[in-house]
Amino acid sequence: MDRCEVLVAGGGPVGLATAVELGRRGIDCLVVEPRPSVSRSRPRCKTVNVRTMEHLQRWGVADRLRERAPLPVDWSQDVVFCTSLSGHELSRFRGVLGLAPEEGRCAEPGQQAPQYVLEELLREVVAEIPSCTLATGSRVVALEQDEDAVRVTVDDGAGSTRVVRASYVVGADGPRSVVREQVGADYLGEHALRPNFGMVVRSPDLWRHVRHGPAVQYWTVNPVAPALMGPLERDGTWWIIAFGVERADGEARAREIVDAVAGVPVEAEVLSTDPWTARMQLVDRLRVGRVLLAGDAAHLNPPFGGHGLNTGIGDAVDLGWKLAAVLRGWGGPGLLASYEAERRPVQERVIHAAEDNMKTLSTDLLVGDLDRDAAARRAAHERIQETKRAEFHALDLVLDVVHDRSPVVCPGAGDRLPHRWLGAGRSLYDALGPVLTLLTPDRVAAGAFTDAARARGVDLRVLDEPGPELLLVRPDQHVVWRGAAPPPDAPAVLARVLGG
Ligand SMILES: Cc1cc2nc3c(=O)[nH]c(=O)nc-3n(C[C@H](O)[C@H](O)[C@H](O)COP(=O)(O)OP(=O)(O)OC[C@H]3O[C@@H](n4cnc5c(N)ncnc54)[C@H](O)[C@@H]3O)c2cc1C
Repeated sequence: MDRCEVLVAGGGPVGLATAVELGRRGIDCLVVEPRPSVSRSRPRCKTVNVRTMEHLQRWGVADRLRERAPLPVDWSQDVVFCTSLSGHELSRFRGVLGLAPEEGRCAEPGQQAPQYVLEELLREVVAEIPSCTLATGSRVVALEQDEDAVRVTVDDGAGSTRVVRASYVVGADGPRSVVREQVGADYLGEHALRPNFGMVVRSPDLWRHVRHGPAVQYWTVNPVAPALMGPLERDGTWWIIAFGVERADGEARAREIVDAVAGVPVEAEVLSTDPWTARMQLVDRLRVGRVLLAGDAAHLNPPFGGHGLNTGIGDAVDLGWKLAAVLRGWGGPGLLASYEAERRPVQERVIHAAEDNMKTLSTDLLVGDLDRDAAARRAAHERIQETKRAEFHALDLVLDVVHDRSPVVCPGAGDRLPHRWLGAGRSLYDALGPVLTLLTPDRVAAGAFTDAARARGVDLRVLDEPGPELLLVRPDQHVVWRGAAPPPDAPAVLARVLGG
């Protein structure tokens, strides 16, 4: 029987990110993925948020994503609402989607990049990690577990199956997760009522008609094509989402929709289509024994605001270092129990925020004759500013994740370590250690923690940091303990934050 420490079902963005987090810690990890190569026909995610970029930076690959992203951050940081690309501008938001965060607040700005660009990069990164294997062309078909291990049946796509024995399994196999079904977990929640019709279109002609300058998103508000669109590549390839359009209708009217978003007839070729309906769903359990669910396999939210993939990367990071800690013996069982306690509130918050973002789409803004009536356009502007601001300026949602009710966080802690620059482009985050880091204004005060860490065999880096308090920070940059003086019982603090 084949063996690995962690089997990751699904080599989408979340499964690959889990493998990177594990593999960087030397964990032997097998990623099972049916798709031989990354598909470019459904480029769903475009918004890679600041927190995901901070993780990519920690993995040393943020620059590699930026080099490949078709739209550099300074290309545009605007979202435009208009009657059509060649029509009237209705409203505009600047500095959107974390592309222009306030100086110092985070280590990296966000990045607009098609999902396939991120997935292709993560596949490469996984291939570069010696302890990781990406088995494409294969899929998980069944699993069973006992107290010691999970036995996973993998179909190799050529008519044979093998059984892999893994200490843990991460189910990152997307909305139709076999892992979720095998462990008997269920999505709870709702489907939206309105269908959406996604398309990728090549139309080099289209840019000539854009009256509003560069933008990362154009929301078109006209009766023929209430839609959302943006440039995918710089060569005239665009993504378009037509709201309220069923598959058959979309396929029949695809060219009509393209002309309507342009506002004039254009030369265009429809490269692919992708009908979808938004879902607000969260699994009833994130963990069953040695099996843990992450990403879309665990939660689904409407895409407005760009949170689904990014939340899944947050799951991968939380889970990755905790599994590594347990497997390498520096973490206790409480760490795995904390995965659900920490991630569920984040997932719930994101689902609610994304559902709110969906309440006003282009279809809902069709009030009056927007092409002819300036007063109707002014009213639309007011309504757009009132209802859509939170969608494009959501840094608090993305960055202010506080695990204050986590069993592995001490009272008064749980927040992401406030970022600051150390000088010359060097982030405080670059200075953190791979396991625990103590930031202290006073080296003598660090003694209690360094002794406790040595006794426990845990890697603790000590950093001189001016400030009124000592901060103990874990691998994902969250503060797990803070105090004005060393704690009376540092070993107990370490035991708590490392899960017993
Ligand atoms: C229109 C649209 C726009 C979006 N925009 C954004 C955005 O801007 N920002 C954002 O953060 N999110 C966005 N999302 C959401 C994002 O696309 C998903 O959240 C993301 O793909 C989830 O990644 P995942 O790895 O969890 O799942 P998936 O991407 O679904 O990957 C799952 C993987 O599992 C594999 N798999 C399936 N079955 C098995 C099996 N039996 N065994 C092994 N592997 C299996 C699949 O082949 C796949 O590769 C958007 C979604 C939509 C619909």
